[in-house]
Amino acid sequence: MSGHARTLSHATSRSAVLDVIRAAGTISRVGLIQTTGLTGATISTVVRRLIDDGLVIETGRAESTGGKPRVLLALNQPSRFAVGVHLDHSGIAYVLTNLGGAVVARMSRAGAGVADPPVVVARMAREVDALIEGVGVDRSRVLGLGLVSPGPLTPASGMRLTPPSMRHWEDFPLDRTLQEAVRLPVVLDNDATASALGERWSGGVGAAATFAAVYMGTGIGAGLLVNGNAYRGTSGNAGEIGHICLDVDGPECWCGARGCTEALAGPAAVVAAARGDAAIAEATGLDRPADHARSSVVADFAAVARAARSGDAGARDLLERSARYLAVATRTLANVMDLELIVLTGPGLAVAGSIYLPVIQAELDRSFFARASHSITVQLSRSAATACAIGAAAMVLQSELAPLRQGLRLPDNLPDSEPVGMGLSTA
Ligand SMILES: [Zn+2]
Repeated sequence: MSGHARTLSHATSRSAVLDVIRAAGTISRVGLIQTTGLTGATISTVVRRLIDDGLVIETGRAESTGGKPRVLLALNQPSRFAVGVHLDHSGIAYVLTNLGGAVVARMSRAGAGVADPPVVVARMAREVDALIEGVGVDRSRVLGLGLVSPGPLTPASGMRLTPPSMRHWEDFPLDRTLQEAVRLPVVLDNDATASALGERWSGGVGAAATFAAVYMGTGIGAGLLVNGNAYRGTSGNAGEIGHICLDVDGPECWCGARGCTEALAGPAAVVAAARGDAAIAEATGLDRPADHARSSVVADFAAVARAARSGDAGARDLLERSARYLAVATRTLANVMDLELIVLTGPGLAVAGSIYLPVIQAELDRSFFARASHSITVQLSRSAATACAIGAAAMVLQSELAPLRQGLRLPDNLPDSEPVGMGLSTA
């Protein structure tokens, strides 16, 4: 055992052990020693405290090849809960998950719309209370609330440089205000990163620990998971493939640049093009005057997707053109990260994923840089509409129970691992 493992703090050992138990489902103490590289004495102490705290239970015995059978450990799923909230202009999705990330309650309510932020936050607090009380969960067992909103984010004030539909939220101290209103710790992240985390915690990507979730909601983004940890970049704004330039002379984007994926092919661009073509506008119902209380980019984009799926050639052409741009942006991300798995998610791809998926897969098969070394799989999320809220709850579980610092990941073989030692020395 090297010095690195011994320098692991108790909190880090506890987090590492919890994370391994969560990922494994059930595991013995010997299995924990092998997986984490921690000593038998450390595992014994950490596990005893986790059992005392009610987070872990003993759950039977494994078959043994000689010697006495090994006691299996599992998370005590109903011992803790987390709230996940996905706030958007068009809708607010809520989930309550248990310690393992399984959804025990969910609900959808009206979006932020044009209401003043303090009014929306007060309503969200009432809705969170209803969510928790509806399933009779003791509030003291709720660890916190994960909140996702369309990025970009700043740690100081929550949202900043907001997308056009939520401009009136700019500089509103969302996390602090919501924390006071719901009386729970609040963790804030962007929608694409949370949806990637949600895919992993909801089992949508199997054992894959490194992948990207390409997210389309009001805008376009990507969440990156590297060895099971979200890669957030310096400020939580990594993965912004919506703002990769695909045409240096292209249209101006709301971010201030030109020719971005989102400006050329994002949901708002698709909706604007549909409105601009009389035949498509009629087929999609977008020619009628907008009902401002209900209308949103997400809802209007869904109308274009419905028309395409029911056979309108014009609507389908618009979406396939958008898909070709998104495919190039996705290929760029895959080339930079050398990925082998991409999950398509978010409300936009929940309704139009069947059109985007083959276009993106074909682009990657044809021109992914490392295609001679390995293939790359593109799949549709099984929970594209709610992955974001599940990921928001997973953020709380991760930050409360597995607060491994970003980039600090316990490798399979801890003792000889430089990165862990380096990560801890700067921690
Ligand atoms: Zn842009």
